[in-house]
Amino acid sequence: MSISKIRGCIGCGECVQACPTDVIRLNKSDVKAYIAYPDDCQMCHLCRMSCPVDAITISPEKSIPVIISWG
Ligand code: SF4
Ligand code: SF4
Repeated sequence: MSISKIRGCIGCGECVQACPTDVIRLNKSDVKAYIAYPDDCQMCHLCRMSCPVDAITISPEKSIPVIISWG
């Protein structure tokens, strides 16, 4: 998966802090979260639950891509 911007993301960094496997990073230039390591996602939903603006949606299947949309 290519790096994708997260629509609706306000750059709070909560999902980055919440993810136990460092899947998500903040882009330093536009301060938006992006999916850096999708293969490491454990589908724990912590990122989704931590996002204050509900910008994260997670696929119910492990098949790619795990996180299917943002925003
Ligand atoms: S669902 Fe995936 S990306 Fe989100 S916190 Fe869990 S491991 Fe990280
Ligand atoms: S928790 Fe939501 S708003 Fe905050 S950085 Fe992550 S995707 Fe963006």
